[in-house]
Parts: sequence; structure tokens; C-alpha cells
Amino acid sequence: FTGVVALDGPSGTGKSTVARQLAQRLGAQYLDTGAMYRAATVAVLKAGVDPADAAAVASTVSRIDLRVSTDPVQPSTVLNGVPIDEEIRSPQTTAAVSAVSAVAAVRTQLVAQQRDLINTGPTVAEGRDIASVVWPTAEVKVYLTASEQVRAARRAGELDGASVDSVRADLRRRDVLDASRATSPLRRADGALELDTSALSIDEVVTELYELAEQ
Ligand code: C5P
Repeated sequence: FTGVVALDGPSGTGKSTVARQLAQRLGAQYLDTGAMYRAATVAVLKAGVDPADAAAVASTVSRIDLRVSTDPVQPSTVLNGVPIDEEIRSPQTTAAVSAVSAVAAVRTQLVAQQRDLINTGPTVAEGRDIASVVWPTAEVKVYLTASEQVRAARRAGELDGASVDSVRADLRRRDVLDASRATSPLRRADGALELDTSALSIDEVVTELYELAEQ
């Protein structure tokens, strides 16, 4: 496989796990663009900036040094020399990430960095706007979905201790924000295959996408 797989969709669809395993099977890079928006959010929160202050968010993010590893076996996110793999998953980061990722200047900056990374080799890239904005010429474009109930249960399983109800409320809030923002809203891109994963195992989804990529 020598091209790009663009995997978009809301959270809780199994997107990250699928993308990582698919990248391993294809011998490709794995690019988690959500981790980059989360890293920008960690920088904003560390600087004490209000995530709703778009100008201050843009200026803070313009000064970060963000390094991500695209190794599917060992993804990592390093902000200004400090690994932040746990912080990017914290509830505080998750609560603020939609506001930070709605800032147009932040998207322009991170999309440019994402394109540079994809340019270095075959890649499975996952996010919200890969097929629509980051890499519209991707050989394989898939939009993963799942019912809200299934997505909430999957996310609650990843975050031990969280109740399905509170996770469902958080997912719903983020979906509304991500789908309604002015810049690159979450939606299925033209030409993307929609795959409902509600009744599928991770293995089944990976196998289906692997076959598409190797065609
Ligand atoms: O995929 P993940 O849940 O880690 O993404 C976190 C957030 O980052 C999303 O809710 C969305 O606001 C933002 N995001 C985005 N564009 C992407 C990937 C993520 O706006 N390509």
C-alpha cells in the first residue's frame, strides 16, 4: 500500500483503534489528528488562556512546538519537549477541545503540519476532516459511524469509572459543536464510504478496510 487512507467520523466509532491496527497491517504511518487538536488544547489550558477567546487561543497555539510520532505501535505526542500522552485524554482537555479546534487559525496551522507528516509516506490518517480538507485525494475514504448508545458504551469502557450516561452527554455535546462549527465541520465527505460499526468488531472493520486499501 503506497497511498493514504482517510478515516473520519465522530468519537466512539472505534476509529483510533481501527486506524492504528490498519496502519500496522499496511505497514503505513498512523496519524491521529485528534491528538494534535488535544495537544493544542493542553497548551491553551497550561497557558491559562480561556478556550473561548479565539484570538488568545490562536496566538498561544502559534507558538507551540508540537511533535507527534506516526509509529502505529508507539504513538506519542510531545509538547514543547514534554510528553503529554496522558494529559491529552484528561476530562479537562476533552471538555475544551471542541472550542480550540473551532478556531480557524489553529486548523490552518495543524492541517499544514498534518500534510507535511502525510507527505513523508503511506499513511492511515484519522480525524474529522481528513477526506474533506486535509487530504481529499486519499485513495481510501471512509466515514465511520455507530449508534449513540454504542459509541457512549465504547468510550465509557475506555475511560474506566465513567458512567455511560455522562459519557453520552459529553459525546452529544461534542458532536453538536464539531458538526456546527464554521470551519471544516464534521460530516461525511463526497466520495467517502459510510460504514456503520455498531454491530461490527474492531477486527471486522480492520479487515474490511484492509481489503479496500489493498484493492
Ligand atoms: O478524535 P478525538 O476525539 O481525539 O478528537 C478530539 C476533538 O478534536 C474532536 O472532538 C474535534 O473537536 C477535534 N478534531 C477536529 N478535527 C480533526 C480531529 C479532531 O476538529 N481532524
